[in-house]
Amino acid sequence: MKPSPTPRSGRPAPRRSAAEPTPPVPPAPPPSAAHGATTTPPGVADILTRYLENGDWREASARLLRVALAETGSRLGFAGILAEGPVLRILDHEGIVGNPDVPPVFYLEAIREFRERGYLEFANMKTLFGAVLTERRHVLTNAPDEDPRSGGVPAHHPALQCFLGVPIFRGGDLTGMIGLANRPGGYDAASLPRVEALAQTFGVLYDSFRRREREDQLVEQLRQAQKMEALGRLAGGVAHDFNNILTAITGYSELILARLRERDPLCKDVEEIRRASERAASLTRQLLAFSRRQILRPVVLDLNAAVRDMERLLLRVLGEQVSLVVALEAQAAPIKADLSQIEQVLLNLAVNARDAMPGGGTLTLSTETIEVRPSDRRSPPGHPAGDCVRLLVADTGSGLSPAAQNHLFEPFFTTKDPGQGTGLGLSTVYGIIHQSGGSITVRSEAGKGCVFTILFPRAQGAIEPARQKTSVIKAPRGTETILLTEDEAPVRNLVAQVLERCGYTVIAAQNAGEALLLSERHAGPIHLLLSDVVMPHVGGPVLAERLLGLRPDLAVLYVSGYTEEEILSHGIGTQAPAFLAKPFTPATLARKVREVLDGHGRR
Ligand code: ADP
Repeated sequence: MKPSPTPRSGRPAPRRSAAEPTPPVPPAPPPSAAHGATTTPPGVADILTRYLENGDWREASARLLRVALAETGSRLGFAGILAEGPVLRILDHEGIVGNPDVPPVFYLEAIREFRERGYLEFANMKTLFGAVLTERRHVLTNAPDEDPRSGGVPAHHPALQCFLGVPIFRGGDLTGMIGLANRPGGYDAASLPRVEALAQTFGVLYDSFRRREREDQLVEQLRQAQKMEALGRLAGGVAHDFNNILTAITGYSELILARLRERDPLCKDVEEIRRASERAASLTRQLLAFSRRQILRPVVLDLNAAVRDMERLLLRVLGEQVSLVVALEAQAAPIKADLSQIEQVLLNLAVNARDAMPGGGTLTLSTETIEVRPSDRRSPPGHPAGDCVRLLVADTGSGLSPAAQNHLFEPFFTTKDPGQGTGLGLSTVYGIIHQSGGSITVRSEAGKGCVFTILFPRAQGAIEPARQKTSVIKAPRGTETILLTEDEAPVRNLVAQVLERCGYTVIAAQNAGEALLLSERHAGPIHLLLSDVVMPHVGGPVLAERLLGLRPDLAVLYVSGYTEEEILSHGIGTQAPAFLAKPFTPATLARKVREVLDGHGRR
């Protein structure tokens, strides 16, 4: 993997408020011990002061290089940082551009590369500068052509008459080097200490810059995490309230529809209301997913199997223009997640990839089990270390601009035309993955496609067998007595109406106190407590406990628009007792009630 590029030219000086700590002052370079005392070259103190003021490392490094040239009387020079490869990233060079001895074709290419990447890359280590890096010591030669370490210079490069290269170390690590050439009359050992002192200053500055950069990154990551958290809370709150409203809208529309004669002209209008509220419910579900508040049914599943099972659907979604490559690890990839949500993740990512490749391309899905160490760069902040299942979703599409990357997972961020995108696809993906204990990051360059990296903790335990598809049954009826407790009047009235229409006797209470009172007054049996989980004063679980003390045969069904987390905090898990998530349709309610009553009767 390529290391991330060193930022182009001096990044804008970060503005620091008075409250922020000043970055550590890089000490002035000590005199070179090996070569006797030497003074700090003139101008260096000024460079350091300015760097502390403006944080512009590139400006400081360019000025340090010019001091090195002036100090040694060199005509050519460069300063570079060692990167993986190994390659030397040349951050600054002197003496080539505008040099009448150098054909412009040579330096124009260099200028272009600089503009594009912010550095030049020197990769040939069989050269004099390469010897500095591989031998980790200075190279001084006044006959470069005859030096066995020399691999020559590129075409059109000015001829080398002499060369002095000095490594830059920081804390024992080789960081880069300064290369100087063509001092009239050649170099002698006396030049060395000053260049070494400058190299040391260079190392200190670079170190300070990296530390600042890391600090800025951490601050940015924290800001991003806080922003997503705040957005999640906001979205979750809105979605929750909307669920109650939508349950009422959908339910009442259905009740009206059931009452109207088929040919009634109002049918179409009510049908429109119902459809609109279904669309709204779908948006609400996505917002809840983003805020990590939707109710998940996590099981240990094999991610490879989940991807394989989705292949046909994905092919259909991608269309003929886009080819799908699936490279799954041979062994199973167990993760703990909700299968339908993982399918949603794959689908959303595939739809986006397709949209980013209108002229065709390739979508690659691959899985791998990896060990993530806390210090690992692959590990996004906050991700637990350990064995992880990694899913890569890579496309060859339009890619993302840096600005888009900053907002990618926020709800309602979209670059698509109105009607084409809601901006909720990736926020749903983000919520689902985080709620499942995973993380998602993206790597992309405009025009060069996107790679989404998703990490899930590798789950322990046996993989659950594939689920059975539930069959759709008609809304069933019954004659039992149901004690309904719901504090939201529109929802309460709706549920009562639906259940009464299905034949049940409904005792409706608006809170736990009233429910207890009504239960006491009701002489006959009560078969089911249908209760909201979160209610003012006394919640559903406490009410259920008290009622079960009085009526041990009571079945309990909870309804809630709340999240797993909140429900857990109210004392019930979503797995064990029967549970129905809002918003629900009358048909789902009727089915669930029947299912709970039947299940209870069989125990
Ligand atoms: P929507 O697709 O509705 O716009 P998403 O949240 O799914 O919402 O995506 C948000 C935006 O992110 C998209 O509008 C698009 O600009 C960008 N995006 C997402 N995935 C990709 C991708 N694979 N390649 C390029 N851009 C993408």
